[in-house]
Amino acid sequence: MGREFVGIFDEWAHSYEASVSGKDPEYRDVFKDYENILSEVAKRVSGTVIEFGTGTGNLTAKLIDKGASVIAIEPNKTMRKLTARRFPAIKVIDGDLLQFDAGLDNIDAIVSSYVFHHLTDEEKGAALKKYAELLPPNGKIVFADTAFISEEAKHLQIAKERNRHFHLVADDLEREYYTTIPILMSLFEEAGFQVNFTQMNDYVWLMDASKKGAINMKKMNVESFNLDHTKVAAPFIRLAGTKKGIHGDEIYKYDIRFKQPNKAHMEMPSLHSLEHLMAENIRNHTDQVVDISPMGCQTGFYLSVINHTDYDDILTILEKTLQNVLDATEVPACNEVQCGWAASHSLEGAKEIAAEMLAKKDEWRQIYQEEA
Ligand SMILES: [Zn+2]
Repeated sequence: MGREFVGIFDEWAHSYEASVSGKDPEYRDVFKDYENILSEVAKRVSGTVIEFGTGTGNLTAKLIDKGASVIAIEPNKTMRKLTARRFPAIKVIDGDLLQFDAGLDNIDAIVSSYVFHHLTDEEKGAALKKYAELLPPNGKIVFADTAFISEEAKHLQIAKERNRHFHLVADDLEREYYTTIPILMSLFEEAGFQVNFTQMNDYVWLMDASKKGAINMKKMNVESFNLDHTKVAAPFIRLAGTKKGIHGDEIYKYDIRFKQPNKAHMEMPSLHSLEHLMAENIRNHTDQVVDISPMGCQTGFYLSVINHTDYDDILTILEKTLQNVLDATEVPACNEVQCGWAASHSLEGAKEIAAEMLAKKDEWRQIYQEEA
């Protein structure tokens, strides 16, 4: 129940500080940018914050610095003593990720670092559901922990550590319940959270989750990660995801939907010409485009922009770009030197799609069908 590794921590308590500061070569990659990782967790929460597995109190210190009111929940007696001694003013409770005083009230956020993998995936799901009951709408969970893109990536990492004789780390990876990003994503979503993942080093990912709520759902529709394609109303322009880099740069990804999913689609030559025309012209209206590419289902495009957070401006930029498509006299770069299938183009088709999209401009902000 999340306590089976408590004994290991007893041995570890005295050497933990050496590990996190990079003095233990085996754990250097795991704790790379440790201070920054903790700061990222701390800066995303405020108010009354539960911290699970406070350890020696490194994250606790950053939370207190930020003005948070911390409730420390720690199963290890040695660690509890250390934390209580270091921060005499905060509440330190005996408990773990799954079992703790359920009487806790008015919690704004739940955080932890290097802890969540102590639970099996099944327990992780149960814990997240418990946290959802504790948190208000928009309440946050921010965890920093080791996770992997896939099972294969995990096995490769274990092999890499064995190869360089870092058997402590490899054993740890095999013993505890390190999981994958897709599994974590579905566990958070099943518990009613919207979650974003950011990779912090070779091991650690930041999981930043907000509890969805009735009011929140309506307001946050544009950011919904789990898109039900039967519920949308094309055309629309929807924020599909955000990603923040370790230096603070932000990528915003939009779903530019031209056609109703599973009802209509764009023909390939028209879609292809539209891609060339938009890719070339949109960059005349902003220098913040990372990429604009067609969806394989031929119903829309993805647009990614960097450090551009203004949804209304995105609509303006797209309107201007589609106007350029209407005004075009030729498809740029539709030759065998500059394109991979120069024979598959239709300027007229692209113009038709652009004209239809522009005619429905007042529908772009409405992503979902009205409830019947
Ligand atoms: Zn092409």
